[in-house]
Order: sequence, then C-alpha cells, then structure tokens
Amino acid sequence: KLSKRLQQIADFVSEGARVADIGSDHALLPVYLLQSGKCPAAIAGELNTGPFKAAKRQVAEAGLTKRIEVRQGDGLEVLVPGEADTVTVAGMGGSLMADILEAGRIAGKLEGVRELVLQPNVGEEIVRKWLVKHGYVLQTEEILEEDGRIYEVLHALHKQHSPAAVTNEDVYNPAILAAVPSMDEEAKLEWLYRMGPYLLRRPTEVLHSKWRLERTKLEWICKQVGQSDTAESRGKEAQLRSEMKGIEEVLSCLP
Ligand code: SAM
Repeated sequence: KLSKRLQQIADFVSEGARVADIGSDHALLPVYLLQSGKCPAAIAGELNTGPFKAAKRQVAEAGLTKRIEVRQGDGLEVLVPGEADTVTVAGMGGSLMADILEAGRIAGKLEGVRELVLQPNVGEEIVRKWLVKHGYVLQTEEILEEDGRIYEVLHALHKQHSPAAVTNEDVYNPAILAAVPSMDEEAKLEWLYRMGPYLLRRPTEVLHSKWRLERTKLEWICKQVGQSDTAESRGKEAQLRSEMKGIEEVLSCLP
C-alpha cells in the first residue's frame, strides 16, 4: 500500500500513460502504477547509486524488469525525447525541481510530455511559476497531511492538451482573492503562486494550518533578526512583517 502522499501522485497520473518518475528512490510509484494496471510501462530515473540500486532491486522483486526500466542519471537526462507521456517528480525542493525541469526542457526531453505531476517539499511557487512560463497549465492541486507533515501535489497538462476552458489566465485570476481588500492585483497574484490557485479556491483546514505554521515560523525569525539593530536587520524585519501581514490578510478572508 502506498503512502497517502504517493497515492495522491499516482491518482493524478492519467490512465495508460507511459511514465517517467525522476528521483524515484525505491521506485515505489512506478511499481504501483504498473501493478495497479494504470500504466503499461515506466522509467525510474535516479541520480544516486544507493537509491538507484534500491530501485533496481524493488523492480526485480516485483517481477517488472521488462516493463520498468531503471536508469541512473541526472534529472531528465535519462530520457530519450518522446519516450514518456507523463513525468512525475516528487519529494524534493521546488527550486531543484524547477532546475531539473528547465535543464530537461532545454535538452528537448520534455517534447511529447503532456502531463506533469509534481510534489515539491518546499518552494511550491517556484514550480508554479516555471509551469506558467513554459506553457503548462495547472489542472488541479491537493494539499494533504501525513505523519505530521504537509504536502502539496500539483497536476499540470501542457497547454496543447489542456481543456480550452482551463487557461493560465483563468487559473491565476487575482479575482480569486477579491475578498482581500487591502492588496493590489500584483500582490494577489504573488499569493496565488505561493499558496496555490486551486487550494485558495477551496481552502481546507490543512491549508489553514500550513500557513498558520508558516506565519509562526516567520514570527520566530523576526524575533531573531530583531535582536541585532542594523540597517540590514531592520530592512529584513520589515520584509518579514509584511509577509506575515500578507498571510494574515489572506487567511482571514478565506472561508
Ligand atoms: N520520489 C520519491 C518519493 O517522492 O518518495 C523519492 C523522494 S527522495 C526524498 C528524492 C530522490 O531524488 C532521492 O532518491 C535522490 O537521490 C533523488 N535525486 C536528487 N536529485 C536528483 C537528480 N538531479 N536527478 C535524479 N534524481 C535525483
């Protein structure tokens, strides 16, 4: 049985897709996708030798060596363009994830990739911005809590495969935050990227607790910064306070 987090990622993968799971570790996701019959074939990419060997072992034990290829390499370099319909990347920071996607895009490895399922551990806004910049349209996203940690899972389609009614302009519509009176459109857009345009449309208790926690963290950092009285620390403190205020304003206007 998969963890709740990996199950959500698996649920977003389209039926019948040829999947490449990048940074696959033990290849749990591709093994599940094959065993459940959802996907016909998969590639598990891993940079590091330990997890690469673990993935090979896992695939062999599942009797899936003919249908899951485990390849060692950096990010999307393990792919031949056109080999995968869906790319999944999970369990790493958003900045590394965007770097991997960008290097792959430049090398042509995303040609033919219709679907991306991404689970950044932090820095979700970097991933959302990368998607918009490169013609992927977020279809939905989920936030979930497991073992005391909160995860976000993003599902995007390339705009050529996105339903006509779903465009980035509509997805990132500042009007979603119309209830926040004190912010201009630019600030609203920034919070949509940070907190998630779909998560803000139907906010859950988990979303509230994530951002309450984030605010508490900022408050703690603020106290540390406030202990030194330099121009730099004052500037930093002001920036942190404005971020905290942004979080409070958005949260207080959500249902
Ligand atoms: N995707 C799995 C999951 O979500 O459960 C494993 C997540 S694990 C925390 C991150 C994995 O990414 C590690 O196994 C690490 O070796 C691998 N990794 C890190 N950088 C990578 C890169 N540039 N290319 C491929 N794999 C990478």
